[in-house]
Amino acid sequence: MATEAGSPGRPAIPEAVADLLAALNAAGHSAYIVGGCLRDSLMGRAPADWDLTTDARPDRIQSIFPRSLYENRFGTVVVRHRGTQYEITTFRRDATYSDHRHPDAIEFGQSIEEDLARRDFTVNAMAWGAHSVNDASGVSGGAVSGGVPGVASVPNDARLVDPHDGRGDLERHLLRAVGDPDRRFNEDALRMIRAVRLAATLQFDVESETLASIARNAPLAAHLSGERICSELLKLLAAERPSIGLRLMAETGLLAVIAPDLDRQRGIPQNKIAGEDLWDHTIRTVDATPNRPVVRLAALLHDVGKPDTISDGPFHGHEAIGAAMAAKYLSELHAPREFQESVAHLVRLHMFNYGAGWSDAAVRRFVRKVTPDGVEDLLALRAADNKGSGQPPETGGLPELAARIRTELASGFVLGRGQLEVDGNDLMVDLGLPRGPILGSILDYLTERVVSEPALNVKPVLLDLARERILELQLVENRDR
Ligand code: ATP
Ligand code: MG
Repeated sequence: MATEAGSPGRPAIPEAVADLLAALNAAGHSAYIVGGCLRDSLMGRAPADWDLTTDARPDRIQSIFPRSLYENRFGTVVVRHRGTQYEITTFRRDATYSDHRHPDAIEFGQSIEEDLARRDFTVNAMAWGAHSVNDASGVSGGAVSGGVPGVASVPNDARLVDPHDGRGDLERHLLRAVGDPDRRFNEDALRMIRAVRLAATLQFDVESETLASIARNAPLAAHLSGERICSELLKLLAAERPSIGLRLMAETGLLAVIAPDLDRQRGIPQNKIAGEDLWDHTIRTVDATPNRPVVRLAALLHDVGKPDTISDGPFHGHEAIGAAMAAKYLSELHAPREFQESVAHLVRLHMFNYGAGWSDAAVRRFVRKVTPDGVEDLLALRAADNKGSGQPPETGGLPELAARIRTELASGFVLGRGQLEVDGNDLMVDLGLPRGPILGSILDYLTERVVSEPALNVKPVLLDLARERILELQLVENRDR
């Protein structure tokens, strides 16, 4: 994407963003880029998204950008320009908070300084752009003809607005609350989770007063919705080294509030790496996984069942208990349903025991059980689990298993119902079976047989096998009657 050149104090911004700022300025409004995108571009990182703020009210923003999409209750208008969506939000001011998570009302602010004062951390509380003479006066220019001009440049009087020394904290690699941390975390407890999340994604330290305040206020995180925690947790897990944030979570007491079952891993001995407990093993495992949300979540939760199975042999069956706990936890967080299912599946299967003695049929049965889509994640989880245990990642013959799985997948052997030479319709027409669950159960049986023995995948053979199976099922039914 084309960018205007950056220079000290002048962030490199995409032309499309410069267009939007210029259009707002031309209409007589102040306009700034603000928050995470400014922080990231000053650090030379690519921002995830670009947020703009202005004194223009939402209806006014919509008239300046006729192609804007919608406005939400936070005063945000989404504008699509050059193929990307941008959020433009009217200045807001700090309102009162009585539930530790939402302001009681959204109030528009009069100035950029007021807007910055309500933001969470100093490095997130900077703005860069141009002030308008009409700012706060209510006077404004006309709509820009044809919407956003194709070519525009940000006025030369664009400046960095930084009332809380975010620039200094950026250089010091520090996350410092804007204003009194106790007050800010009381207003919105999510800011504490954001602090540990940003510490991991930016590899910054949390400034000591801010950190002490998190430790004092951690219990307030109990007021947060699962959705908001989940979204920060996923961002934390997407950091290069999630352990930075996870460790802070544990040390401040946030973990005990938002994931008590993981907090119980602390202090549980593991004879894996000397001096490290089960929680240390978990976070090492998370760091060792590839950066994909499902594998990272599975690594975080893979041993969540261990504290409950300490006396069973020890940890016997922890993967089954852990899978159920992982599913429950992710559903409480309202994580996407496919994450809940895939993560629980990986946790349930992570203790598989490969040996060179496995037949090709055993490899195929393994792929079928794990599902072809899940094998890569399961092997990655197990390799990370090895590293988290202080062992080489390939321990347990993983590269050999991976190679054999690739061979089976490439050879197109039957791994699912869809590849069988008969379908439910054939069973109804040729064998007179009624529509219903019996069809699925017969097809599953046939699939298992063919996975073990590919030569059976011929229509007449399959129909014979199906007939035998039906007789067997009838015998069992008569016996049980
Ligand atoms: P990322 O790079 O992951 O998007 P971000 O800091 O941009 O990080 P966003 O959730 O996109 O995070 O929020 C954008 C900005 O809004 C933040 O930089 C901050 O200024 C402000 N902000 C977000 N959440 C809060 C909050 N709970 N309290 C105060 N300010 C917040
Ligand atoms: Mg952002």
